Amino acid sequence: MRWTPLVAAVLAALACALVPAAAAAADVTSPVTTCDAPVGWQRASFVVHFSATDAGSGVAAIWAAMDDGQPVQVGGPAGGSLEIPAPADHSFDGVHTLRYYSTDVVGNTETAHAAQLRVDTTAPAVSVQAAAGYAGRAVTLSFRVRDRLSPTARELSLVVTDAAGETVATAALGSVSTGERRHARWTPSAPGVYHYAITARDLAGNEAVSTAAPVTVKGLITFTIGRSVRGRPITVTRFGGSGRRLLVVGGVHGNESGAPVARQLVSYLLAHPRALPARIRIDVLACANPDGYARRTRGNARNVDLNRNLPTRNWRRRLDALNEPGAPGLTGGSSPGSEPETRALLALLRGRFDVVVSLHSRGGILDCSGPGARAIGRRMSALSGLPVGKLWYDPYITGSLGRFVPERYGIPIITVELSSSRLGAGMRAALLAAAR
Ligand SMILES: [Zn+2]
Repeated sequence: MRWTPLVAAVLAALACALVPAAAAAADVTSPVTTCDAPVGWQRASFVVHFSATDAGSGVAAIWAAMDDGQPVQVGGPAGGSLEIPAPADHSFDGVHTLRYYSTDVVGNTETAHAAQLRVDTTAPAVSVQAAAGYAGRAVTLSFRVRDRLSPTARELSLVVTDAAGETVATAALGSVSTGERRHARWTPSAPGVYHYAITARDLAGNEAVSTAAPVTVKGLITFTIGRSVRGRPITVTRFGGSGRRLLVVGGVHGNESGAPVARQLVSYLLAHPRALPARIRIDVLACANPDGYARRTRGNARNVDLNRNLPTRNWRRRLDALNEPGAPGLTGGSSPGSEPETRALLALLRGRFDVVVSLHSRGGILDCSGPGARAIGRRMSALSGLPVGKLWYDPYITGSLGRFVPERYGIPIITVELSSSRLGAGMRAALLAAAR
């Protein structure tokens, strides 16, 4: 029985030695901490939740540190949380690094995890510029979004309202990178004053609405008033809506500068809608004699001088050398208004105008006929540099537009004898000033 106490003592000693040693060896591992930090941009304060597990002695504390700050305890064995601020004064805007870790009961410390927190309380800045335009043609506006933090703005949208505040167009403009200039187009169906507003939202959901200065969309229509002897269309481009009505006729004589200059006027007004004076409507019949223009002849395809074919009291079929100097072989037509080109012009004139300007070349004068014509001519002279005057053979001219317009309608007509086929700024200003 002597061995029994010994065995018991050895067993007891082993038990005493082994049990604490085995317990201490069981927890050399650190806790594991997870959190629910959001991935994207936040525009309001939010709470990050933590939870930690430990295989051995158990979680003692959860710690967190923001950016370069000191760690603070944010939780314990049951988990923890931390509120992330997003003050309206934008003072916490930016990308922050959240470090977090836990310790266990016996002092094991977890290697810190890091999460990025993105806070943006600042709305993007949108700038919009809209160009003037014409009804029926696309109007372009350009815009740019700047956002200090979010790299892109999304869900951009455009709303166009008319002067009465009615929405006339909306468009989704997609996403845009900050700083990038983009363009949008829309086609107004009617002239008027339009307001443009673009809404932009950044990745955090901050929203900004920006408006452009109101833009005037002017009227523009193109219509065909007839066809030439050879079937070519005779077209008019009408700029503007109401106001004083100016008709500019070019190309009655196909071998002169009237048609190219009238076309340059059309091109200019299309490219520069703001150049169109207010309360003025301008009809440009750029090429009244398309067959003659195609053949570079003074007359039309039937050798009729269209500027001798109008139904004036002095119309004549036969044109003598004084009536038509330097252009033998032309006639005034078989009857007044016998030519389809003339009839198209007559129909247009019945629509009523306040002033007519007819473009010819190359006399280098402004021939003024009808009531008030000289005052208009003097204004145009000051702008264009061409003198007011008469062609030397004026008394012999029959059936001309310059005679017909005052005779039939009692309105002024300025026959411009151009000295250049290029429409310079002075002549352009003079033509636009004719309607004032
Ligand atoms: Zn001419």
